Amino acid sequence: MPEDVDVVVVGAGIAGLSAARELVSAGFSVAVLEARDRVGGRTESREFAGATFDVGGQWIGPAQKRMQSLVKELDIETFPTYHSGESVVVVDGKRSTYRGDIPKLNPFTLLALQNAASGTNRLAKRVDVAHPERTPKAAKLDAQTLATWRKRNIPSKAGQAILDAGLRVVFGADPSELSMLWALYYISQSNTVDELIGIEGCAQESRFVNGAQTVSVKLAEQLGDRVKLSSPVRSISQTEESVTVSTDTGEWKAKRVIVALAPTMTAGITHSPDLPSARAQLVQRMPMGATTKCLAIYDRAFWREAGLSGEAVMTTGPLAVAFDNTSADGSVPALLGFSVGSLARDLAKLSADDRRTAVLDALASCFGPKARNPIEYHEKNWQEDPWSKGCPTGNFGPGTLLQFADALSEPVGRVHWAGTETAQEFCGFMEGAVESAERAVAEVSAALKSEKVA
Ligand SMILES: Cc1cc2nc3c(=O)[nH]c(=O)nc-3n(C[C@H](O)[C@H](O)[C@H](O)COP(=O)(O)OP(=O)(O)OC[C@H]3O[C@@H](n4cnc5c(N)ncnc54)[C@H](O)[C@@H]3O)c2cc1C
Repeated sequence: MPEDVDVVVVGAGIAGLSAARELVSAGFSVAVLEARDRVGGRTESREFAGATFDVGGQWIGPAQKRMQSLVKELDIETFPTYHSGESVVVVDGKRSTYRGDIPKLNPFTLLALQNAASGTNRLAKRVDVAHPERTPKAAKLDAQTLATWRKRNIPSKAGQAILDAGLRVVFGADPSELSMLWALYYISQSNTVDELIGIEGCAQESRFVNGAQTVSVKLAEQLGDRVKLSSPVRSISQTEESVTVSTDTGEWKAKRVIVALAPTMTAGITHSPDLPSARAQLVQRMPMGATTKCLAIYDRAFWREAGLSGEAVMTTGPLAVAFDNTSADGSVPALLGFSVGSLARDLAKLSADDRRTAVLDALASCFGPKARNPIEYHEKNWQEDPWSKGCPTGNFGPGTLLQFADALSEPVGRVHWAGTETAQEFCGFMEGAVESAERAVAEVSAALKSEKVA
């Protein structure tokens, strides 16, 4: 006999768990079904060299109000991202250092980059996130890629390469993979490009002392045995009266279901009746970004000793950017490199030893030869994780956002959709996951209340 609850939530990432918590506090009975043997989804914290590091999402910023209040409420400690000293930019193998936000580049490249950033911010301000089709020149913007736009608007090749490195990390994708309208839609949700890539006052301002996964671990503790791990949902079958959700370990019957996964990941679930065409096609058209996070742990923070912040931008692979990622108490020095988009896919073709060498060579090109001798090296290739298939977010390529934006969150009968990709504020971020949960819970609560009245 299936277990009976008011609402089944599929996925114990930040979206699913925060939705479940809100539903429980509103008095509904809930089961959260999670495929993995852990909670947290795209946030995952691990112990290396006696300290906690995040191999998934790790930063929050001051504008991310929902995450800020969740962190406070759960009594989770954060600390400022280290970024004192000079940063490094390596353009085609040529290294220079700079202080503050403005890299030392030739004035022509710098001006082109500044114009492109302010042009992008201006365009992003005109995006109507709730109705992207109402954005001026929406069809024209959706028909081109971010790469086409930046080629037209940044005359300098070095400028194009620097912009690519910065934006690749934001989306986990090359500009040639992204609809320009999608890029603007994404930027507009976070306000500006600077917010997305900056540290102080921006999205990378703080890290979690005990790792970002703590948010999900603490939410799951509050939910207790309502959270069922190692329970991948295989099918969802609905009638006029109820929904049955089947996993490898059992069946649940509910009045409503919230599926809190990236759209592409929902493709692994069979639906009965079949999904309407817009939803069925959406799940084939929002591929996950590609990100491999590479962590090198050292016995000394030699870059800090040399007056460097640990921040670097590189125009050639295997890394696009690097950050200081030393543990919260400063006792375990570390550098973090992001290999993203095609760089990550190319890196994955190498053997483990060659990948390590390539990544450490890239760090050495920024911070000197000492970077070649870490005491530990770790990486996580999210593309090979069967329950994420990539990260940080799913993305729309050209010609798709306008056709499929509505299907992102439009409920299908008794099935509702959450997950960061469905958010209208900070989509792609932990903040977006929480926002998506709020919206899905509001839909489900209203539906359950009106059914009760009827
Ligand atoms: C390397 C990396 C860096 C990032 N950096 C940042 C950052 O610094 N700041 C930031 O805010 N965000 C960052 N992000 C993005 C952030 O982690 C995500 O936006 C957020 O965690 C998404 O939460 P979610 O609940 O929407 O989805 P998910 O975390 O993907 O949760 C979905 C859950 O559903 C489960 N699942 C999948 N299929 C099934 C199934 N069939 N049945 C049952 N369960 C299933 C998955 O196992 C997963 O636990 C990063 C992500 C990565 C991976």
